[in-house]
Amino acid sequence: MPAYSLPDLPYSPGALEPHYSGEIVELHHDKHHAAYVKGANDTLDALAAARESGDFSTINMLSRAFAFHVSGHVLHSIFWTNMSPDGGGNPEGELGTAIDEFFGSFDAMKAQLTAATVNVMGIGWGALAWEPVSKKLVIEQIHDHQGNVGAGSIPLLVIDSWEHAYYLQYKNVKADFVKAFWNIANWPNVAERFAAAQTVPSTV
Ligand code: MN
Repeated sequence: MPAYSLPDLPYSPGALEPHYSGEIVELHHDKHHAAYVKGANDTLDALAAARESGDFSTINMLSRAFAFHVSGHVLHSIFWTNMSPDGGGNPEGELGTAIDEFFGSFDAMKAQLTAATVNVMGIGWGALAWEPVSKKLVIEQIHDHQGNVGAGSIPLLVIDSWEHAYYLQYKNVKADFVKAFWNIANWPNVAERFAAAQTVPSTV
């Protein structure tokens, strides 16, 4: 049995319209996300073959491929659950309080995460994450799927900044995609992830 598998979408592909088109969601999940799952499994197989043969001449390529595909799988899996047809509004409860504490206000957090996502150079993601060493919520700007993050940070809310995530609907105007994302943000899911992340002990 392969180590990684593609999760089902938690809604039908068209359920997030008009904010996020069903055509994109379907392609994005069935083709792009699926390719990262396959890539992660294939890379594990290639690493096993390298150990068996003792030939590590492709170790740099395989190490990078593993980080890229696994991270692509993890981030997309979080991304689907971070959206809901019943989304939008503001986070409540402990998550809402923590956002106020660490960012000053919900609007300030939203502005920072929007800026981090829209201004990615090349390909990447914006992320609201739990940083377990300082026990703070932070915003990260992820490069590719796996770069530019603090080791150990736990992503809670991620916004895909790759062109495949928005181009069919929003063309070159990535800012409009991120603006629309806030209408479908699934705050109860982020709150659930926030509660779970806080139970993870710091390793330093
Ligand atoms: Mn994507």
